[in-house]
Amino acid sequence: MVDLEYDKCMLCGGCVAVCPADCITVYEAWLDLDNNKCTNCSACVKVCPVGAMSIPEAKA
Ligand code: SF4
Ligand code: SF4
Repeated sequence: MVDLEYDKCMLCGGCVAVCPADCITVYEAWLDLDNNKCTNCSACVKVCPVGAMSIPEAKA
């Protein structure tokens, strides 16, 4: 499961391109995240240029 801070996201699409499970879709003004499909691979966390993505379990 990924935590997405919507106010940080600038809709660059980087996370969409790297997600191996197709969890993320970028629309014109928002990002859709399907956490049911997330495998916690953390690819989106690493690629996000503004740190909008995080995996809560990994921080604990
Ligand atoms: S952690 Fe991996 S599977 Fe989950 S949303 Fe990010 S890129 Fe996709
Ligand atoms: S990589 Fe970060 S800034 Fe870019 S669309 Fe994904 S969450 Fe938003």
